[in-house]
Amino acid sequence: MALLVQKYGGTSVGDAERITNVARRIAAARAAGNQIVVVVSAMGKTTDHLIALAQSVTQSPEPREMDLLLSTGELVSSTLMAMALRELGVPSISMGGAQAGIQTDSVHGQASIVHLNPARVRRELDADRVVIVAGFQGVTDDMDITTLGRGGSDTTAVALAAALQAERCEVYTDVDGIYTADPRVVPKARKLAGIGYQEMLELATYGAKMHPRSIELAAWYKVPVLVASSTDYAPGTLIHDLDDGETTMEISNKVSGVTYERNVARITMRAVPDSPGIVAHVFEPLTEAGISVDTIVQNASAERLTDVSFTVDRGDIKHALEVSMQVASDIGAADCVTNDHLGNVSIVGTGMQNAPGYASRMFRALSDAAINIEMITTSQIRITCIVDEGQVNAAVRVLHDAFELERE
Ligand code: ASP
Ligand code: MG
Repeated sequence: MALLVQKYGGTSVGDAERITNVARRIAAARAAGNQIVVVVSAMGKTTDHLIALAQSVTQSPEPREMDLLLSTGELVSSTLMAMALRELGVPSISMGGAQAGIQTDSVHGQASIVHLNPARVRRELDADRVVIVAGFQGVTDDMDITTLGRGGSDTTAVALAAALQAERCEVYTDVDGIYTADPRVVPKARKLAGIGYQEMLELATYGAKMHPRSIELAAWYKVPVLVASSTDYAPGTLIHDLDDGETTMEISNKVSGVTYERNVARITMRAVPDSPGIVAHVFEPLTEAGISVDTIVQNASAERLTDVSFTVDRGDIKHALEVSMQVASDIGAADCVTNDHLGNVSIVGTGMQNAPGYASRMFRALSDAAINIEMITTSQIRITCIVDEGQVNAAVRVLHDAFELERE
């Protein structure tokens, strides 16, 4: 008998009919002899609606009240799911995050799980019930309800799987797996049977939709995560530890996927006096302002003056520019110029770290397609080029071709 944690996303529980369909799938998995813990997201666009509702009452909702409000979305779907299961004759019980033993810090709106005590969940499983846990939420030491950040139900599911030492965490969504590229951009993109945690982390951070923290958690506790469709039974993608055998040999020598982001903006601070500590002066105020900076390039200085360029989310550009202008005047830089119609495209693959030539192949492919590279950044298993937003789709297609990702 295996213990499985199954997570169903908002679209999959979007209305009564879908909830009943999902309940049938859960019933079937249980009938096959498994113990099942289910984590649900809020129905459809419930969370967005709750946020809009709060904003119609006040411009600046109290974070504590906001979290209590948002947690209700998942309570609705979890209770309804428990009822739908009972209707099918399956014993079940729903729980809020607090009842399921999920303890967090008190960073409202973006809380981290600090401890998970699965005792109650276990007791219910031992009593032969399916346990339905409301995703995306936990409770502080002071018994205040918190939420884990948008998309956080994935993290609830993986955390429960880790704490219960489940055989697997299964994430059921409206996409049936992880692809070599976004199929809307590259129609011939191929579904991957398996992918490593680190690769998935790069893909999750740079586009493909899963809560990045859920992948970090899965990697840390080595929880295998299956991403599959909630409406059919096609095989999904298994996110797992690549160090565990055969898979490594098969895929180690290639790029696993191409991913992209639009909505990138760049600020260039020009003629910055070059002296020790100057870059810290530029970035500390941005950190204090809560702006997260992505790619940074500082070019070689001529005459002790240097240009510092960095990218931010387009939504942050106004704020980031205000902060940067102030810094520029404080440190005697010339000025700041911006470009707010950029995007990025990345190739990701563990095989890249031991093999040269991937970067030049990427640059050649982009150049053959007359796509100008604005900036470059790399990790051990990723190479990212910042390009004009209008050329993002073309860049993704060109790279998918160049690395022959449609081939097994
Ligand atoms: N309902 C929350 C959201 O929309 C959490 C989740 O769906 O994972 O962000
Ligand atoms: Mg999600």
